[in-house]
Amino acid sequence: MAWDFETDAEYQAKLDWADTFVRDEVEPLDHIWEHQQFVPLDGARRKAIDPLKDQVRKQGLWATHLGPELGGQGYGALELALLNEILGRSSWAPIVFGCQAPDTGNAEIIAHYGTEAQKERYLQPLLNGELFSTYSMTEPQAGADPAQFTTRAVKDGDHWIIDGWKYFSSNARTASFLIVMAVTNPDVSVYKGMSMFLVPADTPGIDIVRNVGLYGEAMNDGTHALIHYDGVRVPEEAMLGGEGQAFAVAQTRLGGGRIHHAMRTIGLAQKALDMMCERALSRETSGSRLADKQFVQGYIADSYAQLAQFRLFVLHTAWKIDKYNDYKKVRKDIATAKVIMPTVLHDIAWRAMQVHGALGVTNELPLFQMIHGAAVMGLADGPTEVHKTTVAKQVLRDYKPNDDLWPSEWIPKKQEAAKAKFAEYLELEVGNL
Ligand SMILES: Cc1cc2nc3c(=O)[nH]c(=O)nc-3n(C[C@H](O)[C@H](O)[C@H](O)COP(=O)(O)OP(=O)(O)OC[C@H]3O[C@@H](n4cnc5c(N)ncnc54)[C@H](O)[C@@H]3O)c2cc1C
Repeated sequence: MAWDFETDAEYQAKLDWADTFVRDEVEPLDHIWEHQQFVPLDGARRKAIDPLKDQVRKQGLWATHLGPELGGQGYGALELALLNEILGRSSWAPIVFGCQAPDTGNAEIIAHYGTEAQKERYLQPLLNGELFSTYSMTEPQAGADPAQFTTRAVKDGDHWIIDGWKYFSSNARTASFLIVMAVTNPDVSVYKGMSMFLVPADTPGIDIVRNVGLYGEAMNDGTHALIHYDGVRVPEEAMLGGEGQAFAVAQTRLGGGRIHHAMRTIGLAQKALDMMCERALSRETSGSRLADKQFVQGYIADSYAQLAQFRLFVLHTAWKIDKYNDYKKVRKDIATAKVIMPTVLHDIAWRAMQVHGALGVTNELPLFQMIHGAAVMGLADGPTEVHKTTVAKQVLRDYKPNDDLWPSEWIPKKQEAAKAKFAEYLELEVGNL
């Protein structure tokens, strides 16, 4: 009987340390260096943040997303989940702990598919937290449908030349290198005709046309780049994985990235619930505390129930990732977590916002930002609708059609079968009457 919902004492001590450390030392960074997480450290930020990273390293909690076989610390997905739900409270925390998206996913695919030279050049500095990377897949005319991707890489001697447009390439303006997906063989399906390239950010021909901002950010001062790759020339050795393998590589990356977001979302939703409860106990109106109003009690109960279910589901998925060590076997669960995540965060943050009244919708509380974050989660790494389709297809795989006219649970047929099964007793019953 191996089901066990307890964390061993040694790791729990580390989690307790992380919890206090994030609240006391890391969350303040969110209030002075907002939106600067992906700007390479220098000056005052380096002086403040390097010692924090050192403390994380001393605790053995730095870059825990990769297993030992991939050059990481050796923590599994479950331990990462328990840590990530603490880090989810703060935008800076993943940087201070060396496990921020999209660099985690990018590190994962370089670790899986990279040559020794690629690992040395890109993976080690990424794991050291000294540089940032970009994943450049979505195109302006198509995000959710890769069959419409047109960015091309054409062979020229021992080089490839990349031409095309990419959209929403996060952090491109501060990244040291970009992982670019391009069509290398237009004569076969995109699933066999696209390849990945590791492209240094200073390669001539990479033109960041706009830095698209999210809601609330200044126009053209965001972090999601529209990029024109204009005759970008890279050597053969820049290809990551084999020719035509881009989708296999992408799946490795997106599986991890999606579940890591879900882990952090637990922490963010917990923060919204904490805020809701504190306010409900603190504010009085119409003769009683908000906490005594049944509507508000309903908000709290619904939020607790949603979060408890989501948390257990994410932890169980993490446990399965460790058990199978194969994202394909956990695809249904990861897609399900991705589907649930925006709704859980949206609903809890929305209720918390309502309970705070006017203050809730101001920029003096983080609640509206969380709701916007929930909307982003329903799109980044693929829209919810697409993931629901994946879930449904995977669920249906475990079923087969019934050739009979009537469903297999049709009661008349079941009754007939039951009567036949127990016929001898039924005859006895009739005889005893
Ligand atoms: C904050 C953020 C960061 C991002 N970072 C990156 C990044 O670093 N690199 C990168 O390459 N991309 C990135 N993206 C892009 C993201 O992956 C795409 O936005 C996503 O795949 C959807 O593509 P699209 O925006 O073109 O929407 P579309 O493909 O145009 O889809 C629009 C809508 O149509 C509906 N829809 C689409 N397909 C289906 C379907 N099959 N069934 C039913 N309905 C459907 C959905 O409602 C969907 O939201 C990021 C996006 C965001 C918001």
